[in-house]
Amino acid sequence: MSKGRLQTPAYVARQLRQEAGFGCVVCGNPIIEYHHIVEWSERKHFEPEHMVVVCPTHHKELASQRSEVAYRYKKNPINIRKNRLKGYLFTKRKSQSLIIGSMRFTNMTSILTYGGNRIFGFDIKDEEIRLNLFIPNDKFNPLIEIKHNYVTSAVDDHWDIEFKPQWVKFRRKAGDVSLTVDFRQEDATISANFSILGQEFSFQKGKHLDIGHSVLGNLNMEYIGEPNPASVVTALGLGPSGRILRPNFAMARPQAVFLPSGRIWDPQLFP
Ligand SMILES: [Zn+2]
Repeated sequence: MSKGRLQTPAYVARQLRQEAGFGCVVCGNPIIEYHHIVEWSERKHFEPEHMVVVCPTHHKELASQRSEVAYRYKKNPINIRKNRLKGYLFTKRKSQSLIIGSMRFTNMTSILTYGGNRIFGFDIKDEEIRLNLFIPNDKFNPLIEIKHNYVTSAVDDHWDIEFKPQWVKFRRKAGDVSLTVDFRQEDATISANFSILGQEFSFQKGKHLDIGHSVLGNLNMEYIGEPNPASVVTALGLGPSGRILRPNFAMARPQAVFLPSGRIWDPQLFP
């Protein structure tokens, strides 16, 4: 962006992301810039019909091409053609914990499962967190998947996706975020809102997780034994109707688990 030029207004930027399937129209890279096909020096404007979303490499390339080339890609973006978004999230080294909503997990490969399917999990390799995540749609097909920090998703399920090297945000509609993954802080953080088979799950900072007959909050779970990447340690296993199938307190240190009666579920009761 040249000096003195105004920033692309948010609603124009969003419209350009939506029409492009949230990535570069040439290669699909979700790390994007906003290119003026009708150049700023020619006319100071933010007209979506004369702008296009491109990655830094293709921004330079399209700027050196005839404008017809840019219009051609704008009309036929690769992510829309494939109905697919792919991207990679970079992490901060030496993070050890993952914070999901109001719960912190340390040294665990499997954080939350639903009916035996892993929803959140991570491992650490070369001091870097590698996140695994599966957010299902209402048919339990993948809405968003992350495998070792590689993000994949269909594009037509989302209203907006903002992707930066160390964070990503998916929105269902205005003001309604379905997933945020943020690797910029010391601990990796996730907030998420989704439903499984009609049951809503909301993982938000400062809010307890309501799973039907139980409410979980302020959990701080850590696997204390020798780290063993081969063994799968599950912190919380949920099933249909919000039943807790397997709270793995034997190898974890939950600070507080709240039941609807207000009675605190003392982890000491589960040796
Ligand atoms: Zn590109």
